Amino acid sequence: MSEEPWYQDGLKFRCTGCGDCCTGAAGAVWVDEENLEKIAEHLDKPIGEIRLMHTRMLRGKISLTEFPNGDCTFFDGQTRSCKIYPVRPPQCKTWPFWKSNVSDEQAWQQTVKECPGSGTGDLIPLDEIEKRISVIDL
Ligand code: SF4
Repeated sequence: MSEEPWYQDGLKFRCTGCGDCCTGAAGAVWVDEENLEKIAEHLDKPIGEIRLMHTRMLRGKISLTEFPNGDCTFFDGQTRSCKIYPVRPPQCKTWPFWKSNVSDEQAWQQTVKECPGSGTGDLIPLDEIEKRISVIDL
């Protein structure tokens, strides 16, 4: 018999657009060729330029890069918005519903501390949470 997850009644989330998850400490933002193609198309730039200016190899995989201040290189500091929002990587689309963030209530409380949109706003139902979690293993 499978046990229901602790978040079976859903979790709240509505992005406030603060930009905190696109800035700050350096980290990996995983992308694949398909993601890069979509980004290149969206920005109307050659994929080679996107690869050169916005990606690096990390632990054998492709990650987006940050500026020295930690901002994602696709983050517009003036408008505090994402330049590739409609085609942002799966990891950005599914935040904060990553396996690691919902592994237990303590992990979720930590996420709520880091992301002001988490724990508030729209109630995201269990099936939608599970769908987002299954997109990328984080
Ligand atoms: S930290 Fe949370 S509220 Fe702020 S931009 Fe990221 S997802 Fe939205």
